[in-house]
Amino acid sequence: MFHSYELFALYSFLVYKYPNPILVGVLCGMGLHLILDQVGNRYLIKAFVISPWFYFFTFRAWGGFHKDWLRTPRKLS
Ligand SMILES: [Zn+2]
Repeated sequence: MFHSYELFALYSFLVYKYPNPILVGVLCGMGLHLILDQVGNRYLIKAFVISPWFYFFTFRAWGGFHKDWLRTPRKLS
């Protein structure tokens, strides 16, 4: 659940409303973590590629959190 852009947006709004250096630091770390996960965690295992929408909580919930919804077989050529 914490790996979601929706939660990041909600947290960003809270930091905007209640600015605090610690909360801003957590926000920056969370944002960097999400970006690096989006770029670097494309493969759960070598046989599958995760969806580019994986880090949207609504996408995962829409598919019922089924692993076949979240990943596609990797084409080996
Ligand atoms: Zn992560």
